[in-house]
Amino acid sequence: MPGLTYEQRMPDVIAPSIEKRAIDITWLDGHSSSYGFELLRWSCPCAICRGEGEKPGVLATTERLTPEQTELIDVGPVGNYAMSITWKDGHSTGIYSWEYLRRLCPCPECAAARGETGSPR
Ligand SMILES: [Zn+2]
Ligand SMILES: [Zn+2]
Repeated sequence: MPGLTYEQRMPDVIAPSIEKRAIDITWLDGHSSSYGFELLRWSCPCAICRGEGEKPGVLATTERLTPEQTELIDVGPVGNYAMSITWKDGHSTGIYSWEYLRRLCPCPECAAARGETGSPR
């Protein structure tokens, strides 16, 4: 995948919405992304969820997320390169870098650019 430009991986506006159960991000290049809480939790990049080395993460054996696992409590900045999310079950070790989020954008345009067909889970 080609590298992202500065404008493509720097957020302009970050708007979490409990009502929509999503975090909307508008990027400096004008693109907007909407990340549902479920997608974000399934995409948690931390070592516990993703696994490390040979060790599979807990998401590898998770079939369904509980309501607590997809209930967003807080979003906080991590330096100027990422944000962290605290979930209702107490999980807060996921560091979502801007670049990771931009590559995760679930909009049809980005999904098509990644060569995905159908909708992400
Ligand atoms: Zn995690
Ligand atoms: Zn997109």
